Amino acid sequence: MKVFKFGGASINSFERIQNLATILEEYKNEKILIVISAMGKMTNALEKVTEAFYSGKKADALRLFEKIKQNHLTLLKYAVTQQWEAATNDLLNFFTEVEWLLHDKPVKEYNYYYDQVVCAGELLSSTIVSYFLNEEKILNKWIDVRDLLRTDNTFREAVIDWPVTRQKIEEKILPLFRETDLVITQGFIGSSNENESTTLGREGSDYTAAVFANILNAESVTIWKDVEGVMNADPKDLPGAVNIPELSYKEVIEMAYYGAQVIHPKTIKPLQNKNIPLHVKSFIERQLPGTVITGKNPHHLPPIIVYKRNQVLMTFESKDFSFVEGKPVNTLYEILEDIKIKPNLTQNAAISLYICMDDVAEKIEKVAMEASGIFDVQLEKNLTLLTIRHYTAEFINKLTENKTIVLQQKTANTIQVLMREI
Ligand code: ASP
Ligand code: MG
Repeated sequence: MKVFKFGGASINSFERIQNLATILEEYKNEKILIVISAMGKMTNALEKVTEAFYSGKKADALRLFEKIKQNHLTLLKYAVTQQWEAATNDLLNFFTEVEWLLHDKPVKEYNYYYDQVVCAGELLSSTIVSYFLNEEKILNKWIDVRDLLRTDNTFREAVIDWPVTRQKIEEKILPLFRETDLVITQGFIGSSNENESTTLGREGSDYTAAVFANILNAESVTIWKDVEGVMNADPKDLPGAVNIPELSYKEVIEMAYYGAQVIHPKTIKPLQNKNIPLHVKSFIERQLPGTVITGKNPHHLPPIIVYKRNQVLMTFESKDFSFVEGKPVNTLYEILEDIKIKPNLTQNAAISLYICMDDVAEKIEKVAMEASGIFDVQLEKNLTLLTIRHYTAEFINKLTENKTIVLQQKTANTIQVLMREI
């Protein structure tokens, strides 16, 4: 069995959904579990609905949601004819779930409502795709992933309950595959013990695909994307960016750690644990090889470049010329953890400690306030953190040219340079 994941860009128009059918035609008679995310920018649009609702602007929320409804209904008209009534009914049921909630007053935490509203995106898109494919005689069964994927109730960052999820997937998916070759479900969403919808964090559909693959012992996972594969840099940053044909799990985890937006960082572990290869392929140019990610270390990798922009460097200096070590440093790390700040780069000196982090204004202010009891705190904004894995002198020179370097760290494999933009 294979697992395919189709992201938002691969289903954001009728043509794209037709293209998905063309891809599946090439895998006739294979058993495939298909994980689908919300169409195009629907997750963002649904976030806006939740924000309006939560700030008491009910009319705005309903109006924004109406637009989302119309988008899906229009697409459905193109995609489905014979089964149009049944499909419309299914969509209306999902709409109603959200609208009921929007008519209430918010009394619970924001993240709870977020998950109840935002999960509609995946339910709607996967329903349309499933009906469309069935009409094209690409026979499939649709299943609500909330009946399979059990999580805790950390809304927006839900943690998977593996034993329950495993049991449910085995119990419900395996019989479906006896009836059909294709099973369609949703990425990114799950449900709690109390049957509330939950989500796994933005871009979480990749992770869902990996969870299914792990439990079903899939032979491979393919993430279909609108890019060639995993590139060595974002082509917007580096015009000569190239596709990397082979990568190791380890390299991909490192890339994600440094901020490359390739694959959801949680995706790798469930695959690595069962040694399941992950393919990243273009849904447009299918003849291209794309990237395959496995446990093997490829012999030669090009320099891999990751930029994190909008960085802040905070300097914590001891107030009385004592070394920065021991208790004050531990306290500082506790403060960072409380405020949920993940340092992107840290460096120690005798009486100061440097920490580079994402510029999230409220968080930075909070750290500065809380740490000012123990340290003199300074900060510099508008910095860019450049990471180069498998660097060469040539690349370092080229990418730091005309920049003022504020801080730099180098290991045998990786260089990180914090730079002031000019
Ligand atoms: N639709 C969700 C998002 O945009 C999940 C995903 O696409 O993976 O974040
Ligand atoms: Mg997406």
